[in-house]
Amino acid sequence: MEDERFRALLETVTNFNWEGPRSSALRAEYEEQKAKQYDLWDASRDEAEKAKLWGMYKAPAPAAVRAEYDEIRKRLREYQRALRRDFPEWHYSDGSRVRQFVGRDGLSQGAIQSELRNVWQLASTGKADKAKRKLRKMSESFALNVDRALATTDSWYNREKRETEVVPRKARPNEAATLRQMVETLEWLQRRLGSLKVCENPKCVSGRKYFFKVYPNDTYCCARCIKIAKALRKAKRDAESQKPPRVPNFSEETRSKMRMSAVLRHANERASKGKN
Ligand SMILES: [Zn+2]
Repeated sequence: MEDERFRALLETVTNFNWEGPRSSALRAEYEEQKAKQYDLWDASRDEAEKAKLWGMYKAPAPAAVRAEYDEIRKRLREYQRALRRDFPEWHYSDGSRVRQFVGRDGLSQGAIQSELRNVWQLASTGKADKAKRKLRKMSESFALNVDRALATTDSWYNREKRETEVVPRKARPNEAATLRQMVETLEWLQRRLGSLKVCENPKCVSGRKYFFKVYPNDTYCCARCIKIAKALRKAKRDAESQKPPRVPNFSEETRSKMRMSAVLRHANERASKGKN
């Protein structure tokens, strides 16, 4: 039963498609442009120029791009709600809000989805050692945060006084418990690296492209992807078998030269025979 929970959570988090089905070439272009503007602003030394560049960088996005961002935000909110409803063990309350480390927080801060996809990809292509190291690193960082959540003091360096100040604070046991749940989840995954697989249908849209194998030779995530792969293989075989037999493809000029040389050869042969 516990296994099923881990499996379901990990599949949900890893497969969640927050980009949505819409093509976002427009947004990619916009983001690239923003990155360029930021670099220009960062490199500029002239204050007036800098202010102008900052204004350009901060200008509101075109309506179409804003609509795409709105859609992403909407999808994320729905995803958050679904996670909270289906996986309460990975959530905790800090008194005012429900929080977690697997969904949006995970996407933006710890980027747990991209890390998990990376682990899946590595394990799926025979790089289990690398995948294991990556997972261990992830669970270590969560374990470190367990200690932080349970600490009863905070400390920071005071520059004016030139000393470290220590102040008391409340331990956060709920947060620590959820972090511990994350550590357990990642350790569970570490023991199952052998069954991770990324569907080999390059156009997989099943929503469970990252899956756990049932049989050792599983290559595709679902019956539909198997069918598509089979059809693709057949189309390739057919294309190959229908290719016309290989014939030298000489140009008309070359062909006429070849004819000429054959005629000359025959003529020469006849001439030398006549001499004998
Ligand atoms: Zn698939």
